[in-house]
Amino acid sequence: MTLGEVLAAGTARLTSRSFPVSPAAQGAATPALDAALLLASVLKTDRTGLILREAEPVSAGDLQQYARLLERRLEGESVAWILGYKEFWGLSFTVSPEVLVPRPDTETLVEAGLGAIDRFPATEPCTLLDLCTGSGAVAIALKHERPAVEVYASDISSAALAVAQGNAARLLPEPGIYPIESDLFHRITGRFHIITANPPYVPRDRIPTLALEVRREPRLSLDGGVDGLDLIRRILVQGKAHLRPGGTLLMEADPGQMQTIAGLLKAQGYRPITMIPDLSGMPRVIAAGFTGSDA
Ligand code: GLN
Repeated sequence: MTLGEVLAAGTARLTSRSFPVSPAAQGAATPALDAALLLASVLKTDRTGLILREAEPVSAGDLQQYARLLERRLEGESVAWILGYKEFWGLSFTVSPEVLVPRPDTETLVEAGLGAIDRFPATEPCTLLDLCTGSGAVAIALKHERPAVEVYASDISSAALAVAQGNAARLLPEPGIYPIESDLFHRITGRFHIITANPPYVPRDRIPTLALEVRREPRLSLDGGVDGLDLIRRILVQGKAHLRPGGTLLMEADPGQMQTIAGLLKAQGYRPITMIPDLSGMPRVIAAGFTGSDA
């Protein structure tokens, strides 16, 4: 069989079986992409390499290895877990069962973070705290783009923080990011110019409706309590003691939660409040200015 034929058969395999993906789930099935990423990893190439080598034969050993990876995918394991990494912001992040796999939508948070950094007067060094950092995706992407910013990254999970530190060591020059093991602001002192967070925000009763591969991710990174806003509420209340006047709080949430969050932010005296759309045009990140007064 040629590489092109193997790829077509792999895609067909991932299409024909009914995936354990629910309609409500993110990370919907992308059979052609999944088949290609898995084959590329077996052949130690990338997707361009696959196209260039389309007419070449695939060895029996490689075929066998590919079949095993396809089987794991069919059992509902995500491609990111099978490969052990996920591309985010053009960088390759190591992932493990201890962290949420970085989502393309979360690049909106990085973009918003860059905007906030760039609006800052360059007279003093900008400091940024990324809460619920998980794999470190947001913190590392921001530090990668704006090396002069002092970036702190915190997570309640020491295992997640170890993954973030590994990613930082691989993707950034020293000193990289400063990791802090903390339940939100519990062990954080001082004030920052910018705080970013992609906290768990899935309403608890929606978790059983998520795709199998999402449900296998750490519950700690998804479960936001009854209405999904438990951590967001804590962040926006406690954040006022950790933002500098003129600073910005940036949080990712579900588009359906945005109006409620905007109301909560307003009640706490944040302004201005703006929403930033994700790739599909839905509001995914909310930005709130901290005026310094306690409204
Ligand atoms: N967008 C994520 C998902 O539904 C939710 C991640 C989160 O709670 N921060 O897969």
